[in-house]
Amino acid sequence: MLTLETKLADLPKVGKSTVNKLKKIGLISVNDLIWHLPYRYEDFSNIKPIGDLKINEIATIKGKIELITSRRARHRRLHLTECLISDDTGSIKTIWFNQPYLNKYLNRGDELYISGKIDDDFHTLQFTNPLWEKTEQHLHTGRIIPIYSSTQGISQKQLRQMIKIITPLLKNYEDYLPNAIINKYNLLPLNQALEKIHWPKNKNEFLLARKRLQFDELFFISLNQAKNNYELKKHIAPIIPFNKEKTLVLVKSLPFTLTVDQKKAAWEILKNIEKNTPMNRLLQGDVGSGKTVVAAIACLNCALNNLQSIILAPTEILALQHYQTFLNTLKKFNLNICLYTRSQQKLNNETVKRNDLKKMIATGKINIIIGTHALLQEKVDYANIGLIIVDEQHRFGVAQRKKLKDKTKNLIPHFLSMTATPIPRTLALTIYGDLDISIIRDKPLGRKKIITKIVAEQNRQRAYQFIADKINSGGQAFVICPLIEESDKLGVKAATQEFEKLSTKIFPQFKIGLLHGKMKSAVKEKTINDFKNKKLDILVSTSVIEVGVDIPNANLMIIEGADRFGLAQLHQFRGRIGRSNIQSYCLLFTDNQSKKVLHRLQAMVLYDDGIKLAEYDLKIRGSGEMYGIRQSGFINLKIADLTDIETIKKTRQAAATIISQSPNLDLFPLLKKEFTSKNQIIHLE
Ligand code: ADP
Ligand code: MG
Repeated sequence: MLTLETKLADLPKVGKSTVNKLKKIGLISVNDLIWHLPYRYEDFSNIKPIGDLKINEIATIKGKIELITSRRARHRRLHLTECLISDDTGSIKTIWFNQPYLNKYLNRGDELYISGKIDDDFHTLQFTNPLWEKTEQHLHTGRIIPIYSSTQGISQKQLRQMIKIITPLLKNYEDYLPNAIINKYNLLPLNQALEKIHWPKNKNEFLLARKRLQFDELFFISLNQAKNNYELKKHIAPIIPFNKEKTLVLVKSLPFTLTVDQKKAAWEILKNIEKNTPMNRLLQGDVGSGKTVVAAIACLNCALNNLQSIILAPTEILALQHYQTFLNTLKKFNLNICLYTRSQQKLNNETVKRNDLKKMIATGKINIIIGTHALLQEKVDYANIGLIIVDEQHRFGVAQRKKLKDKTKNLIPHFLSMTATPIPRTLALTIYGDLDISIIRDKPLGRKKIITKIVAEQNRQRAYQFIADKINSGGQAFVICPLIEESDKLGVKAATQEFEKLSTKIFPQFKIGLLHGKMKSAVKEKTINDFKNKKLDILVSTSVIEVGVDIPNANLMIIEGADRFGLAQLHQFRGRIGRSNIQSYCLLFTDNQSKKVLHRLQAMVLYDDGIKLAEYDLKIRGSGEMYGIRQSGFINLKIADLTDIETIKKTRQAAATIISQSPNLDLFPLLKKEFTSKNQIIHLE
């Protein structure tokens, strides 16, 4: 018997090779296929009398085969099947190329639907290679037909046929949404929505089905956030009072004045950690906007209250940089600041033994602990964590926080996430629905707009001359190389080749360094420091340099194969320069001539500002594919739109109602089951 769990392999007429192909697009069970939603439709539902057909229109007719011939064309290697089809109003020629088997299926007298474009064949109308279907089947033409994403070797017809076979199973499909919600928001029952999304009889049915399925997708996101918030509110965090006097000492000691937004962000954070409800905050600020110093202010206050803070960086390079920045920024305060990564452990500028450091962390001797995820993986014990700051990574769940909770008082730490990924306002509510947000919009005073240019291959020499001039007048350059070969996963080969080319052929007069992910951390560290200390003029790098690296004197960013990177990544690379008041330049090398690609790169030339780029990206690609969304864990929305604020407001309300009635969802077992299985996939934490 067919059930939702039935494997597609067990469906009639589905062979082994088909099964393998279906697997490639994630379709294994009947249930998978039911949720394989059409991405568009073709409306062949409007049947036209043959007598009314016009050239170039796309139309569907219903008629009888009057004549059918099948033959090989004389001069070309072509096989032709020709029909004459008629209804009460006239007749039309239909021709198929190279489908000799049609002969077997189609016979004189058969009644067919034919759908396609009307061509002009020497002043008579004809269909060329149209879709066809016998009227008794009525699945692929003569109606609104669903079009699915597919893969080589699986035709639309096959997919539709399989889905047709399993559609009756939807009768037994139980709705996981409680009736109260379905009624309140005027939704179709789930089984009807699924049936109609595949087989809508008209536009209205499609709209109703889509409304229900969009609601569900956004609802599960809202439910996850509501649940997280609820969990979090059950816990208590340590109170970290604001030490105004010492904070002012720190601010006055900086070599610059804080921008208005930096001050405001710091203030919001300090007010937040003064309370015993755990902070759950996002600090958003474009590349180079100065988020690190805001983090340092929060950590100082934490340390002054005898609580530890952890700063997690996405890469070792960045962890090291934060460590150096913190040591430098907080040098007046006599704190113990350590670096802990997989490959090195340091305390106040000295290298220390891993186990010694672990002990000092566990006994509370260390105030600020900076590192990579090794801190979480290597079972480091902490004395009393007040604050966790995560750089360039969006979420840190309740479960992870619980692991770091205070062992004696059962307090859980405050949390701050920092990101340069600008999310357009229309998306923020959806993606960050459970977070408070602080935004640094202004740039430090005196920063100049980075001048960005696209460089075509024929201008390469001129560009090299330009770079040489800029370096000769004191500048420094990054050169980023993309992955060229699939096998060169870390881009080591590409960067090494570029390094050799530049050192021997192009710029033998300059000192050039190489940086990639396979190098030992000590070597990486030395290279970066050499670049920072101007011992190198050019740093050739893979995309490891992407996030966070701060070298204020560097003012040239050269990106090879720029078309291979997305806008978000390009903007991150470019964010490595323009970090001081010198004029910076970003050169995007590409030999790609595609209009679409150049158009995309042109956005880099036009917009300096991450949020503008993100909005642009949203417009051209839609929220599914967009800028940075991938990192937020919301990939694979099948049908909903992350910017659909109206629906999101409803789903947030619905989720809040559900959680208030049954925080662990036990009152709604079907919903709980669906939520749990979905969360294994979305996995926001
Ligand atoms: P991001 O927000 O990208 O992490 P950083 O915190 O690394 O940016 O800061 C970028 C650079 O700007 C650093 O060199 C930092 O010292 C400097 N900086 C930060 N705030 C200011 C300011 N208000 N005025 C001038 N320079 C600043
Ligand atoms: Mg940063």
